[in-house]
Amino acid sequence: MGPFESALLSELSSLEKKGLSRSLRVVESSRSTRIKIAGRELANFSSNDYLGLASHPAIATAMGEAARRWGVGSTASRLICGTSAEHTAFEEELAVAKGTEASLVFSTGVAAATGTIPALVGRGDVVILDKLAHACLIDGVHASGAKLRVFPHNDLGKLESHLKWSTETHPKGRIMIVTESIFSMDGDLAPLREIVELKERYGAILFLDEAHAVGVRGSGAQGLAGELGLANRIEIQMGTLGKALGVSGGYIAGSRLLIDWLINRARSFIFSTAPSPAVAAACRASLRIVQSSEGDALRARLRENLLLLSGELKMDTPQSAIMPMILGSEERALKASARLAESGFFVPAIRYPTVPRNTARLRVTMNAAHTAEEIRALAVALKNQNS
Ligand SMILES: *Cc1c(COP(=O)(O)O)cnc(C)c1O
Repeated sequence: MGPFESALLSELSSLEKKGLSRSLRVVESSRSTRIKIAGRELANFSSNDYLGLASHPAIATAMGEAARRWGVGSTASRLICGTSAEHTAFEEELAVAKGTEASLVFSTGVAAATGTIPALVGRGDVVILDKLAHACLIDGVHASGAKLRVFPHNDLGKLESHLKWSTETHPKGRIMIVTESIFSMDGDLAPLREIVELKERYGAILFLDEAHAVGVRGSGAQGLAGELGLANRIEIQMGTLGKALGVSGGYIAGSRLLIDWLINRARSFIFSTAPSPAVAAACRASLRIVQSSEGDALRARLRENLLLLSGELKMDTPQSAIMPMILGSEERALKASARLAESGFFVPAIRYPTVPRNTARLRVTMNAAHTAEEIRALAVALKNQNS
């Protein structure tokens, strides 16, 4: 073994000792809420497929038909010859759903964030970021070269003092607040109305990541911004098409001018092969379902399922489909997850650096397709953990 490999080996074994090493689990089959790993079928409480749309037959059909019509690949970036009529139709439909003039699709939510943030701010500007923001938002800020100010999670007082500081020290710069509407590892909500009021008072702009809110909060694909009637007061609405929408990709929704700017400046958009037209067609089919009475029924089922589990566990009513159970040490979280797997449930242990140190947790995510029996049995297994 050369010095390069032995350095990697020593770093990896030190991660292993701290309970922080990660490896891939191969899923042998997966359909709706059932997942097969290492020869065993488990009830899956780990996916972000909140409405069960990843295995919806009508979406699969739309994807297959589009693949046969357009081919499986987009063959180039959007600006060369990768923009199909499926892409533009989806972007128009998504903009209507979000209450904005326009929208733009990226290959992933990560690409949407890491391309958009540096297109909008740079040296001389300030980004004010919630402490628990997703890694891709932090990466976007670092790539931009803007000054970064972090406020404790949902702390409006500290956010305001950063806004004050920014306007005083960067009178000519752009000030952008970056936060999520539903936080990915805690499932709680941002105080969005108050944040919108603060950013207007200080002349800042807001970048809102709705990854876990789209399809879950508000009607259709509105997200929390639409639910609170704030869509036209938020400059940049971002989200993913790979969670409640069940497909893959990311998007930015906002003004026509914003979208035209991103087409010219977002590097992850310009220099990347477009998502397949079949993916765009699947997103169109998914969005149609999310906005239909079937979508309303799925959201109602999701809510019932969340109330059932929180009731069984005597927890507060969840505000999203994410229910974290914070255990503290990495070791406790890993053991709890392994014990749940033995009982037939797949619930991942979430550890540093995904969450802060000493807040390792089980992250239960609910799906509209979970049965009451699966949920009651999970509640029993979780209660046995604590006894
Ligand atoms: C998953 C997630 C993303 C990234 O979206 P992908 O489409 O998976 O790349 C961005 N932000 C948050 C908060 C997320 O949870």
